[in-house]
This record gives sequence, C-alpha cells and structure tokens, in this order.
Amino acid sequence: MPASPTFRDAGAPSPRAVVAIDGPSGAGKSTVARQLAQQLGFAFLDTGAMYRAITLCFLRRGCAPADCAGEPDRGQARMRAALADAKLELPAGRVLLNGQDVTAEIRTQEVEAQVSAVSALPFVRAAMGDLQRQVASKGPIVAEGRDMGSVVFPDARWKIYLDAAPAERARRRCQDFATKGRVVSEADVLAEIVQRDRLDSARADAPLVRAPDAVYIDSTGLPAEAVMARLLALVRGETRAT
Ligand code: C5P
Repeated sequence: MPASPTFRDAGAPSPRAVVAIDGPSGAGKSTVARQLAQQLGFAFLDTGAMYRAITLCFLRRGCAPADCAGEPDRGQARMRAALADAKLELPAGRVLLNGQDVTAEIRTQEVEAQVSAVSALPFVRAAMGDLQRQVASKGPIVAEGRDMGSVVFPDARWKIYLDAAPAERARRRCQDFATKGRVVSEADVLAEIVQRDRLDSARADAPLVRAPDAVYIDSTGLPAEAVMARLLALVRGETRAT
C-alpha cells in the first residue's frame, strides 16, 4: 500500500512566508503578532478584525444571525448579499468597511456577541480565507486568528499556538478595555471568552484547533516581551538555519 502523502513530500509546495499564530480569545495574539510583524518587517494580518467587520456589516444590514433566527433561511440570502457588497480594507492598524473607519466599532459587545455565529458560516469563512491568501500572496505576513496554521495557511513556514489560562485571558482583556475607557467586570469577560472559545472550538468548519506542527506556547504568567522573545528566536532561528 503506498504511504499517504505528507506535507514535506517531494513535489509539495515550499513553505509559505507566513507566521501563523492561532489561539483562543485573549491569549495575547494581537499584541505579539503586531510587534513581531514590525520587528521582522512583515505585514500584519488581524483576521479576527475581518470577522468582526463582517459581523458589523450584517448588524448594520439587520441580518446578523440573532436578528434572523426565525426566518426560513435564517437570513442567509441577505447575509450573502451583504457579504458580496462589503468592501473590507485593512490599512496599517485600521479596519475600513465600505470606506468607513470601523476600527473602534468592531470591538463593541454587540459585535462580540455575534461574531462567533457569523464566523461559523462556511460562506463567510470561504470569502475571508480567499482574502487572507490574497494578502499573503503579496509578501511575507504575520497572520493571527483561529485557523491560520490549520486551514488557511497549512503550508505556513512558522506555526504557533498561543494559549493562556482563561482567568488570565479575562484579566488581560479587562486591562485592555480599561485602557480604552471601557469598564467591564472580569467575571463577565471571563464568561464571554469561555462562551466564544466553546463556539469557536465546536463549529464544523475550521474550528479552533492546534495544528499538529504548531509550536505550543502557554503565556500564562509570561509578559508579552518574553513571548515576543520566544517568537523572534523561533522565526530568526529557522531563518538563519536555511
Ligand atoms: O481574535 P478576535 O477576538 O478578534 O476574533 C473574533 C472572533 O472571530 C473569534 O471569536 C472567532 O469567532 C472569529 N475568528 C475566526 N477565525 C479567525 C479569526 C477570528 O473564526 N481566523
């Protein structure tokens, strides 16, 4: 019986210049991914921001999942139409939806409450995956999300799964909200991220999983600088070795 083909078989494409960083909400992916991209001179792709922007788009068009749960197609025709009309741009550190800056608005609780349901829709994931690969075709990137190493960039040269204990993730998110003037209870944030992780991990299409070849980093108790140092060593180490 022939051996089943593996990623590194002869004829397989060479690894793509992508640092894929996956992990649950609040593990600190955005902070370190953004800094890592800066240090390496790579572009930074925040794929959570893309799903948030599409969720906002559906909310504005009145077709977010919770708004049309009672409809025969659960709003899917309207969502598909809204998605086809949506123009998403991610200039450095900002998110534009149909030309309007929505960087702050995609971080509201209203968006957070529905983003997992939106991101479970296969047609949304297919469109976002295409966009993400388009970005990567233009040059090296650091991409962070839930399915970067497992689905969108299985051929990424570097894969990291960044994790942290739920209580610490909730604490970090509260601190982050506080810097933006948003006061929220740690217990509420913990409940929200646990619920989002559960939905993200249980969905049929591209669930949150650790790719088998991803380096696992538990950042509980580690400052962002220490995580950054490990990531830089990982990427630069392999860069020097080849
Ligand atoms: O990372 P962030 O909290 O901004 O992600 C928001 C949501 O977007 C996640 O809870 C998840 O539902 C979805 N997401 C996803 N796949 C990605 C990135 C984010 O499903 N690659």
